[in-house]
This record gives sequence, C-alpha cells and structure tokens, in this order.
Amino acid sequence: MDSVPDAVAALSTRNRILVFTGAGISTESGIPDFRGPNGVWTRIDPSEFTFDKWLTRPETRRKAWAMRAESGTLDAEPNDGHRAIAALWESGLLVGVVTQNIDGLHAAAGLPPSALVEIHGNARTVGCLECSETWPTETVIDWVRAGDPDPHCPDCGGIIKSTTISFGQQLEPTTIAQAYAWAEACDAVLAVGSTLSVYPAADVPASAARRGAPYVIINRGPTDHDHLCDIRLEGGAGEILTALSVALTRQSPP
Ligand code: NAD
Repeated sequence: MDSVPDAVAALSTRNRILVFTGAGISTESGIPDFRGPNGVWTRIDPSEFTFDKWLTRPETRRKAWAMRAESGTLDAEPNDGHRAIAALWESGLLVGVVTQNIDGLHAAAGLPPSALVEIHGNARTVGCLECSETWPTETVIDWVRAGDPDPHCPDCGGIIKSTTISFGQQLEPTTIAQAYAWAEACDAVLAVGSTLSVYPAADVPASAARRGAPYVIINRGPTDHDHLCDIRLEGGAGEILTALSVALTRQSPP
C-alpha cells in the first residue's frame, strides 16, 4: 500500500500541482458525501433531483428546500484538509484547485477566487432562473421557514434555484474552460475525497494524468481512477493532507 512518503517523493519537485476535490474532503466538517457508507444516496434517490424535475415538479422543490433548511450545511466550518490545501497554495505549489463541492469551504479556508474553480457551483447563493436576481441562501431559507415551502422570485415570479449545477444541467463554459486550462498547465495532479465517478468533472484530473502528469489520489474507499493513478493513499483527507502539506512546504524554497 502506498504511503505519505511515496506521495511526497512523487510531488516534491512539482510546483504547478492541480488539486481536485470532492465531497469526501468535507465530511470531516460534518457534511455528508453522496456515495460514501453514510452518503446522502443511501437515503435519497438521486433521480428525484434532476434539473428537469426542479423546473417541472413543485414537490421536488419543496422537498429540496425543506432538506436545505434542516441540513445545517451553511453553518459548516473548513477542516484540516481545506486548510492544508490553502497552505499548499500559499507556498506557491499549486496551479489551482478544482472542486466538485458546493459548500464554499475552500474559500472559507482562505483560498482566493483566482485559485479556485467550483465546477458544480455554490450553494451559498440562490438565483432566479428568469430574471437572474440573486439572494444569499440564508434569505431564501428564511422565506421557507416563514411558511413558503416553494418560494418564487419576488420580482418576476420565476422559479428560483441555488447557483449549483444539478444532474442534467450544463456546466458553466468559463468554469470548465479554466479547469481544463489548469489540467493542461499542471505538472502533477492530486485528487482528494472523490469517487471520481461524476463526469465531465472527473475528466479534469483524468486528462492531466493522460498527458503524463503524476497522479496521486487520497480517498477512503475505491475510486473509478484507481487504475489511472501512480500513488493511492487510503484514509482520512484531513490527516493525510496535513502530513503531505507539512512535508511539501518544508521542502519548497522560500
Ligand atoms: P462521492 O460521494 O461520490 O465520493 C466521496 C468519496 O469520499 C467516497 O469514496 C468516500 O468514501 C470518500 N470519503 C468520505 N469521507 C472521507 C474522508 N474524510 N477522507 C477521505 N475520503 C473520504 O463524492 P464526489 O466524488 O464529490 O461526487 C459527488 C457529487 O456530489 C459532486 O459532484 C459534488 O458536487 C456533490 N456533493 C457535494 C457536497 C459538498 O459540497 N460538500 C456534498 C455531497 C455531494
């Protein structure tokens, strides 16, 4: 089994590392992942929450807003894994961070907007699909708690939705272009806390690996890219990333 020193050896001469993260990096902040042993999909059918159903079924929207109001996701704080990645960026070792997460915790850990692509959007803002008006998600949750289970845009009456990408919804072209630009420019790729099974997002690290960039994966449990990677670290993201970040930043020139 590969160890942290193996990953340090693979990454120690690199200073344009692309980091790609998934829901597993945020479980230590109390946010459940989708496909892990306690994942959301063990309780809920993903086919209920497609973009098409959001547009056409009031009961889908009511259920989703009620879950959002109860989840506490917006109160979550970044953990050691998010902080270790911010430290790697601060040390000049990263080309950028592409996250599938919608929780905003990389930014909360101090990663600047220029270093971060949230490929599936961000759940901290809600937008009107008709007139593009936006609100902080807390505001919309307040409307739900005040008794409107399916709130619509107060200005134009349009359907509103968090600024996230749902199943069946197109990715933002500028976002995906930036992610692929980093995959092209990187000299190594580090994927953390993801089954690497959601496409096209998971093609970003895969495309860097196909180009020959050394590929390190940190995950608890198998991933769809285990056959593609050079180093595979099994275990908790917070502890492993902290050890990796300490070792790599110690070696990097001031
Ligand atoms: P996933 O649920 O498919 O996979 C998460 C993986 O992380 C699993 O293999 C799990 O065993 C592992 N894991 C869990 N805790 C871990 C830990 N502490 N350390 C290391 N590994 C750990 O998640 P995915 O690949 O990101 O795909 C799910 C999709 O759902 C993404 O597109 C994302 O947009 C979305 N999502 C986001 C959040 C969030 O924003 N925090 C949460 C759930 C789902």
